Amino acid sequence: MWKIENSTNTQYLLKFESEIILPLFSMICDIVIEIEKGKIKLPLERVDIWKNTNVFLGFSTEQKKLFSYIMQKTVSGEKLQDYFYLIAVTFDSSYVERLFKLYKEQNSKVFYGNYDIPQIQIDEYFKGIFVSYFYNVYFVDDYVWGALVGERYNRKSFHRNFKLENKMVVCPYCDIDTTVAGSNNNIEHFLPKSKYPLISMNPLNLISSCYACNKADEGKGDRIPDSPIISPYNEMIGDFAGFDIDFLSKKITLHNTGGKAHDNYFKLLKLYSRYSDPIVFECVDNAAHSLFETLSNFTSPTKESIDLYNQRRERMNNLSFALKSVIGKYSQYEAYK
Ligand SMILES: [Zn+2]
Repeated sequence: MWKIENSTNTQYLLKFESEIILPLFSMICDIVIEIEKGKIKLPLERVDIWKNTNVFLGFSTEQKKLFSYIMQKTVSGEKLQDYFYLIAVTFDSSYVERLFKLYKEQNSKVFYGNYDIPQIQIDEYFKGIFVSYFYNVYFVDDYVWGALVGERYNRKSFHRNFKLENKMVVCPYCDIDTTVAGSNNNIEHFLPKSKYPLISMNPLNLISSCYACNKADEGKGDRIPDSPIISPYNEMIGDFAGFDIDFLSKKITLHNTGGKAHDNYFKLLKLYSRYSDPIVFECVDNAAHSLFETLSNFTSPTKESIDLYNQRRERMNNLSFALKSVIGKYSQYEAYK
């Protein structure tokens, strides 16, 4: 719901892309072309064939050290170089080049704020490299980040950078929960990594969200959004969330005041049903009551004073959009009570 930025984490993840992802793709292309030209014979004799690529030979000593580390890192009993080997003996250059092109296309779309990306089946080896190695393991590997940026970087740093940059401790997706506690922070892939592995390391596909939003039963899980879709990186979606409050049935109803993309967003995050939970009514009612009380201490609360007070608490307290929408009707409610 909140419009967000992610430029600090973008700097880290672009470094990862330029130093690891792009060279690895080039190495794979190198090998499959050499095999096609007959310069390298099958079956390959050595599993560390990547050391023969022009890309690797052209590396500095530090880059060679980093690649030797990542290639031999074991995940679930297998090394990245085993995947590299399997890819080299399985695919031809046209497939690998097509995939490399797809990687660039999908990532560039996301950087331009376009999340309407068709899902294309990616084979298990490439998927494994992106999800099991890059995202699950290297993202939190001290050695990798030490070599890339000279400091530690991990999921905790991601959340910290995100909170500082956006000056927020509420979940940007739902505005229902706060993300103050570290264990209530999830790195959520807007387009799920299980279906879009090639953009699993793209910072503008990653959102520091609450636990519920990341889970399929309550939030979005790994569902693919309906098209057209927008993400919190595109705009302030909360401005298109209207709320009706029914004091009799003690219920809040969220309705869409925007277009189809906003509606798809609210459905994706299950926000229509999550806002209708009676506990949400209780929280908003409580916040409205205390806001009303605070403002009544001022001699004449104006719209400006309400807005100013709200702005101070926004992004630090949850349910701001609902409160903002409801507060206008609150005096009638107080009279009714
Ligand atoms: Zn959330």
